[in-house]
Amino acid sequence: MSAMRVLKCDLTVIGTGMAGSAAALFAASRGLKVVQVGRSAEIIFASGLLDVLAVHPVAEKKKWRDPWAGIRALVQDCPAHPYARIQTGAIKAGIKEFLDFMEGAGLAYRRHAGRNVEILTSMGTVKLTHAVPETMWPGAEALKKKDPCLLIDFRGLKGVSARQIAQVQKRRWPDLRLACLEFPEMEGFSEVYTERMARALESSRYRHKLATAIKARLAGAKAVGLPAMLGISNSRQVAADLAERIGAGLFEIPGMPPSVPGLRLKEAFERSLPAIGVTLFSQEQVFDVSHKEGRGFVLGIGRAEVEQTVQSKGVVLATGRFIGGGLHAGRQRIRETLFNLPVYQPADRRCWHRKEFLDPRGHPINSTGLQIDDLFRPLGKNKQPAFEMLFAAGSILAHQDWIRAKCGSGLAIATAFAAVDAFLRI
Ligand SMILES: Cc1cc2nc3c(=O)[nH]c(=O)nc-3n(C[C@H](O)[C@H](O)[C@H](O)COP(=O)(O)OP(=O)(O)OC[C@H]3O[C@@H](n4cnc5c(N)ncnc54)[C@H](O)[C@@H]3O)c2cc1C
Repeated sequence: MSAMRVLKCDLTVIGTGMAGSAAALFAASRGLKVVQVGRSAEIIFASGLLDVLAVHPVAEKKKWRDPWAGIRALVQDCPAHPYARIQTGAIKAGIKEFLDFMEGAGLAYRRHAGRNVEILTSMGTVKLTHAVPETMWPGAEALKKKDPCLLIDFRGLKGVSARQIAQVQKRRWPDLRLACLEFPEMEGFSEVYTERMARALESSRYRHKLATAIKARLAGAKAVGLPAMLGISNSRQVAADLAERIGAGLFEIPGMPPSVPGLRLKEAFERSLPAIGVTLFSQEQVFDVSHKEGRGFVLGIGRAEVEQTVQSKGVVLATGRFIGGGLHAGRQRIRETLFNLPVYQPADRRCWHRKEFLDPRGHPINSTGLQIDDLFRPLGKNKQPAFEMLFAAGSILAHQDWIRAKCGSGLAIATAFAAVDAFLRI
């Protein structure tokens, strides 16, 4: 490897999920020279909703309309939770900066000031979340007012069923009607996919045909709900144009993975982070890392072998848990895959899961991860920071069960904000 190929930077972010992308955004916006590396992340499975906190304690399934009050209760009960190391003002500032950036990247979100919003899911349940893509917002309004609403199913589409939604909601929202349509030019297909439909709807020809089919079934409905499929890179324009052609409010219903809103996030990051100066190695991985006193970290990046060496003053480790690849569950122990950092975990594999799959307390394996100090630095074996300039953010952090607490994206963004702030302070 020649010295010519060494790329020098202030901060390397490992991970291109929600936490890694937020960290790259915060660092580049503060003038740091940033390298970001990662393979496809959990993000393409995500619903696109931005949860901050909706449930605590998880065992009681207590729901919070005010996420900030929920966080106050959470940090009092669980002082080791990552949220306990961040001031509420900093969590709010990080989320606002993230949402402003996404709006600039063409992916606007809507939210209420100070309270969670209720949103209909593809299962027919109602979920409390903090912010929703603007293409889903009219659904929150329609749900609140119980407007006469037409839900669309597409023949051949799996994972979303308007019939199931109407069945679950029939007492709460009686004027929900159903229509099952063929997607234009995919008539007779035994299976259709939201990503393909979303890309097709970026063309006005498909929008015209779909609007004509929906209009014929409208019968006075004030709002129309569709699976999340209103375009990928220009969902705002696709939704506005289709709504105008139909002559009714139009909203997306968040669906099962793989998800179009998740793809939108991924593509928006890949477009917009390089535009603010991030050197992005997408679909690549860090193979090896070493640390030398006075020189910082040296990282080898590539697909099948090391193709690029990076020398970096600091690193934000945002490699996720098991799906992302930051943690690996071996036969006996869970290990951290890059730095071999100590992982907080149950003493024994037999304690990873409780006996009942649906135990309301969740499973201990879902709170495993890295323990950190107040500057978001992972602790080494001696309980001191493993490296002065190594920080961690996102789902790899211990003492949190983001799926049950409904805090996935909020936790990722807030901890990324705190990690970058700590790097700058040190
Ligand atoms: C099915 C599903 C639904 C979700 N729904 C919601 C929701 O409704 N609301 C919400 O708020 N959140 C939701 N989330 C959560 C959210 O999208 C994020 O997954 C979560 O916040 C964790 O993000 P992360 O960045 O910490 O980890 P991940 O998304 O797992 O990202 C880890 C990254 O690290 C990279 N990586 C790992 N090892 C290496 C290596 N050696 N070299 C380079 N890169 C590496 C991976 O390639 C990946 O890019 C959902 C997630 C899933 C999976």
